[in-house]
Parts: sequence; structure tokens; C-alpha cells
Amino acid sequence: MTAAVGGAGGAPGIEPATERDLEIMALQLGRTMRGVLGIGARCACGAPTVVVTSPRLPDGTPFPTFYYLTHPAATAAASRLEADGTMAALQERLADPEVAERYAAAHVAYLAAREAHGVVDEIAGISAGGMPTRVKCLHAVLAHSLAAGPGVNPIGDATLALADWSPERCACAPGQRGSAVQGAAPSPR
Ligand SMILES: [Zn+2]
Repeated sequence: MTAAVGGAGGAPGIEPATERDLEIMALQLGRTMRGVLGIGARCACGAPTVVVTSPRLPDGTPFPTFYYLTHPAATAAASRLEADGTMAALQERLADPEVAERYAAAHVAYLAAREAHGVVDEIAGISAGGMPTRVKCLHAVLAHSLAAGPGVNPIGDATLALADWSPERCACAPGQRGSAVQGAAPSPR
């Protein structure tokens, strides 16, 4: 067993974003993030993998994607899975009532986590990734699993298991690495 980076024990937590985090995310995305509430998950090196964004951006725009995948290698891995038919395979898993029930619960958890930072009427009941009954964006469900920890989002967990990227092995570009000491055990939070 290895500790989950960014969501140990499934307990959602948001770390404040440092200046270096904001700098790394700007490099990861090629733009400045707006409405940053904090960091939802990190690479083993400490670089952000998931940014947590306010449900309403500073300019007033409603923003449903509370957990947003920023890491280029993670994003590319999710895109590859979307391209190779994995999304349809994961959708089929929802035919299992137990998986469907857990996915629906993930939707509720997503909304609850977001609404703790403000209820925005325009996006009420709208989570991300196709939840609660569809699989439409593996980036969104992967981001949810990375931030919430294992056991919350079954489709996100499956995406992480199938991905050829993991937060446990740093695949950050040289200028985009965090400051965690290489080889040290990642901090659970
Ligand atoms: Zn890294």
C-alpha cells in the first residue's frame, strides 16, 4: 500500500496555493488560473496536479469544474484513454448497480465539496465529467479521484488505475517540479 498523494484516506483537503504553485500551474496550462481556492492534489515532487477553483470566477462566471486537472502528463494520459475507447468501457461499468450507486454518490460528494465554497444557482446540481449517470470527461473524474482520494469516485479511480501516469512517479517537466525532496516519503497532506 502506498499513501495517496493529495487525498490520503479519502479525506478531501485543499491546501493553500503558494506563489510557486501558481507559477507552476501557469507553466502547466500556458495561462494564469483564475479563481484559485487552493491545490487539491500534488505530484510526488510537490507540483500541483489538481487545482481547486471557486464555483464563481472573479468576473462572475459560474464555474462547475471544482477540481481541474492541471498536470500535462496526467492530462495527456486521460486524453489517450478517451481516444482509445476507455470512456465507453467505463460507461459500461455503470450497468453494475453497485458501481452506479457509488458514482451517483461521487456526484453528491462533488457538489457538497463545491458548495462549501459557495452555492451558485446557475450550476446547481451540475458536477463534472458526466456524473451522476454518464462518463463524458476522464480528466474531470480523474481530478476528482486525485483530490478526494481513493474510494470516492469509482470511475475516476478506474481511470487512474488504467492511466500510464501516476502522481507517485514524478513526470513533471524540469522547470515545473515542486520542491518536495526527491526520495522522501510524500507528505499525506
Ligand atoms: Zn512532479
